[in-house]
Order: sequence, then C-alpha cells, then structure tokens
Amino acid sequence: MALIVQKYGGTSVGDIERIKNVAGRVIKEYKRGNQVVVVVSAMGDTTDRLIDLMKEITDDPDPREADMLLTTGEQVSIALLCMAIQDKGYKAISLTGSQVKIKTDDCHNRAEIMAIDNSRILKELEQGKIVVIAGFQGINSRDDFTTLGRGGSDTTAVALAVSLGADRCEIYSDVDGIYTTDPRIVPEARKLDYISYDEMLELACLGAKVLHPRSVELAKAYNVKIYIASSFNYKPGTIVERIDEMEKRNNVTGVTSDKDEVKVTVEKVPDKPGIAGKLFSKLAEHNINVDMIIQNLQYNNLNDISFTVNKEDFIKSKKVIYEIAEELGSPQVDIDTNVAKVSIVGAGMITTPGVAARMFTALGKAGINIQMITTSDIKVSCLIAEEEADRAVRILHRTFELADIDEGVEGQVQ
Ligand code: ASP
Ligand code: MG
Repeated sequence: MALIVQKYGGTSVGDIERIKNVAGRVIKEYKRGNQVVVVVSAMGDTTDRLIDLMKEITDDPDPREADMLLTTGEQVSIALLCMAIQDKGYKAISLTGSQVKIKTDDCHNRAEIMAIDNSRILKELEQGKIVVIAGFQGINSRDDFTTLGRGGSDTTAVALAVSLGADRCEIYSDVDGIYTTDPRIVPEARKLDYISYDEMLELACLGAKVLHPRSVELAKAYNVKIYIASSFNYKPGTIVERIDEMEKRNNVTGVTSDKDEVKVTVEKVPDKPGIAGKLFSKLAEHNINVDMIIQNLQYNNLNDISFTVNKEDFIKSKKVIYEIAEELGSPQVDIDTNVAKVSIVGAGMITTPGVAARMFTALGKAGINIQMITTSDIKVSCLIAEEEADRAVRILHRTFELADIDEGVEGQVQ
C-alpha cells in the first residue's frame, strides 16, 4: 500500500462537474489499494474574486483579516469534493490547515510552512478515509490563519508529501505537463517526460506558471519527485526529479519568453566606485527585484546603467526609482516597456561550450538585436524588442532542435 498526495488546481475543481471528475480520479487511486491525501485549491477564480471584494473596501487591508477571507476559498472546495466522494460511496473527510495543524511563520499573505502535524491525517487514513486538505493555508503562532502566497497550494502538497513521507506527489491542473516551449507559440513543442528541479525552478521563475517556485525548492531540498499532469485526461505528464545523468541529456531543454519586463536606464551617473552599489542597494531596500543589468560607459566619466524589473514591480516602484536616480545625480531616466526576455534553459549547458554563442548567432542571423544578456549555469537570457519575442522563441526552438530532442534517460511514468 502506497501513500499518495494528489493536488488539484483551481481549474480542475472549477465547477461541480469538474469536482465530480476529481472525485472519480481520487477514488480510482484509492481503489488501487492506496492511501490518498488530496490537496485542493479554491474553485476557479475564487481567490481573485475575494481579493476584488476586499479592494472594494480598502487597498491596504489588515493582513490578518485578508488571510481570514482568502482561506475561505479552499474551505468551499474541500467540503464539496468530500461530498462528491461520499456520494460515490466512499469515505472522505475534509480538513483545514488549522485542523491539520499546518504551522507557519507569522508572515500573513506569504507565510512559510514550519511544521506539519501528521497525527490527525494518519488517524483518518487508518480509518480508510480519503483525506482532503485545504491548500494555501496554515496557522501561525497565535493560531490565526495565514496564507502561503498566490499559487501556494502546490507548496502545501509538497510539504505534506515530505511530512508524511509519501510515495508519490502528483500535481494536477489544466496543463498536460512541462513543454519545451509554449505550444501556443510553437505548435511542434514537445512535452518533456522529465525535468530536473533546477530547470523547473528556472522555468517557474521565468513565468511558466505551472508550479509555485517554493514547491519546487522544497521538493528539491527533500528529494521528492513531483508528477505534473492534467486532471482532464490520462495522458502521461512530466516528472520533476533529481537528474544525475546530465551528460546524456541534450544541452538545452526549453525556451521561454517573458513579456512582463521593463527596461530602466539611469542615464549619465558618475563613473566612480560605489555608484552601482548605491543604486542597487537602494532598490533592494525598497524590495525592488532587479533582473538583468548592463552598464555602458558614456563620455566625460559618465555611465548609463540599465536594469530590468517586472512590470508589476515597476508600477509600484516607479516613484522610488526616479528619486534614487536623482540622488545619484542622473539627469534623465529612460523607460522602455517594449522589451521581452527570451531564455534558453538546460542543465546540460554547464558542460557544453558554445551554447550561448549558438543562441546569439541564431538571433543575429534573424536580425534580432540583443539589448542585454544574463547567464547562469543553466540559463542564458537575452532582452530583445517585445514584437520579436514569439519569432525569437520559434527560431531558438528550431536552432536547438527541441521538437525532436532525444531525452536520453527514460522518464519513468508513474
Ligand atoms: N487559491 C490560491 C490562489 O489562487 C492558492 C492556489 O490556487 O494555489 O492563489
Ligand atoms: Mg496553481
């Protein structure tokens, strides 16, 4: 008998028909003789609607009350799912984060899980029940509800899998798995049988919103495999796991683009030690997350420093950016919203020379100008004009032959 944690996202439980479908899938697993713990998100766009309600009252709600409100979404879906399971003749029980005792820190709205008490869950499982747990929520040291940040139910699922020592952690949503790139941009994009934690983390942070990045970090830290698949069919999905046999893999696994970047250029700051330090520490002090950076020498000992920030962050921090620039003596700040970041990601890159050069050459041949570059061990990103983004993705997907990649190591479909 295995212990399985299954998580179903908001779309998968978006209406009663879909909840009944999930009930059927959960029961199917239970009938194989396994113990099943299910984590669910709130139905459809419930959380967005709750946030809208809150905003009709205030833009700055009391964080405790905000969490009290937001945790209700998941409470609806756990109860309905249990009823649907019971209606098909099986035993099920729903539990909130507080009933389980999912202990978090005190950071309302973006709490981190500190510990989970397994006892109630194990007791219910021993009685032959399917246990359905509210995702995205926990309780803090004062026993008040906390939430884990948007998309946090994935993290609840992985944390439960770690705490219970589950045999499998499966995350179901409306996507079939992880693709070499967005199939809407490149129809011949291919679903990957497996992907490493690090690659998945890069993709999650680059905007492939399939998994909450913290859930991947947690899975990596505890070496828990995550199986990602659709709740709307039984096609094999993608396994996120530790992959040691990198040499066998292709050097590039996927291509992504992110159109949510803004390029900020702080013009003509003095070319002397300490200026960049000052600029970026001030940005950090204001929680402004900087992504790509480039510095150009102007003339008369003046530099232009450009960096990119996420569009949402930019709107929030526009004023602060202008203030900091003025403090540094910059006469002008240039803002370019017409940019996109295209990236290639692949764990095999570390050991394969020339990958970045191939990327730059392919973009250059296509007449696409590169404005900024950043690299890590497993990623190369280029900032280009936004209108070229989709074409760049198609070109790179072809350049690295991702449509007919041989994955080398066989992914084990569970
Ligand atoms: N319901 C929450 C949200 O919409 C948590 C989740 O779905 O994972 O962000
Ligand atoms: Mg999600």
